[in-house]
Amino acid sequence: MRRSYFSENWFQATEQFMQRASQFGDLRWCVADGHDFDIPYVLIGNGPNKVVINSGIHGIEGYFGSAAQNMFLDKIAGTLSPDLLRRYTFVLVHVINGWGMQNRMREVVDKKRGGLVDLNRNFGVDFSRPNALPQNPKYALAHDLLLSPPDAVKKKQAIKDFRQKHLHDGAWDAISYGQYTHPYGLFYGGAAPMTENKMTMHIYDDVMRDGESLTSIGLHTGLGRFDRKRGRVSRQLLVSHPAKHKNTEYFSDLLVATTVVPDERAKNGPVLLGDLVDCLEARYATPEIPVYTADFEIGTGEFPIMSPIYKRMDMGDARYDLLNCGQINSETWNNLTESWYPSDMRWRNGALDGAWILFTELIHSLKQKQK
Ligand SMILES: [Zn+2]
Repeated sequence: MRRSYFSENWFQATEQFMQRASQFGDLRWCVADGHDFDIPYVLIGNGPNKVVINSGIHGIEGYFGSAAQNMFLDKIAGTLSPDLLRRYTFVLVHVINGWGMQNRMREVVDKKRGGLVDLNRNFGVDFSRPNALPQNPKYALAHDLLLSPPDAVKKKQAIKDFRQKHLHDGAWDAISYGQYTHPYGLFYGGAAPMTENKMTMHIYDDVMRDGESLTSIGLHTGLGRFDRKRGRVSRQLLVSHPAKHKNTEYFSDLLVATTVVPDERAKNGPVLLGDLVDCLEARYATPEIPVYTADFEIGTGEFPIMSPIYKRMDMGDARYDLLNCGQINSETWNNLTESWYPSDMRWRNGALDGAWILFTELIHSLKQKQK
């Protein structure tokens, strides 16, 4: 039954979302000139406290976020009480990166300037002064290795060795922080705001017009474990703040059955460059308007240590294929897809179970909250 929430392509996913959303709320579209993939979003309720669930910033993560939102519309939206909907507006933003979803890429192509841009490293960055862009010099240490010719044995070992060597000097972690120097490198944040990023901010601005608080959760896959033998997936809420921070405390208070994961590295500011959650805080938070942000992550990696190694290798291989052969080789493509969006039905069901627990306990806790 549940498999029906998952779609095969963007058109089907959007159709599913649209049909259900129009039954329960105010369905709106964000469109942009010359852009093929409109972003639908739905507002359910009209309370001043906004709860936004967005999906599909990363195309390679497939239709999990879309499926979770379709499940929300099918099973939860119709059960929300008038009292709750007077206090809260629930907003689902469906598939921000439609191109990536269709082309099974995490990023989008910047047709004007070249490069593959990770939308979640492109938010809130000031591109007006290229010399003042955020710096991540340690990324360069890994770049050539990541983009070297695919080789399942030698390259894998070399990346494993690189991790071992640079686990404690920050260079291994730096690969995923975001960078603005290598357009075809991994986690590239771009050279200008991308259309999808402008559309996303337009949607949040629309929602926050009369907002008195914002709780925003992005749906993602790729971080954490998938125990294939038992068919179990990890689910965690990454809050990108240390444990002793009001953002972490807010979510820990709301959620009991979902692990809330703080980030102690974020003591002196954001760890990831140009990501949405930090951008939302900078844009809307005031002493009167609290903003709480997090990313919900469904695990996909079978081996805790090897999983990030495989993921970085697959991403680098895809770049190598694109730059040298003009297209991604089918084996690379399959590896890339499986490591972010496993085809195993137990994974898909487990991922939806995780989203179900997140949604139901979120709503249960919000109901209890007296505002
Ligand atoms: Zn993601």
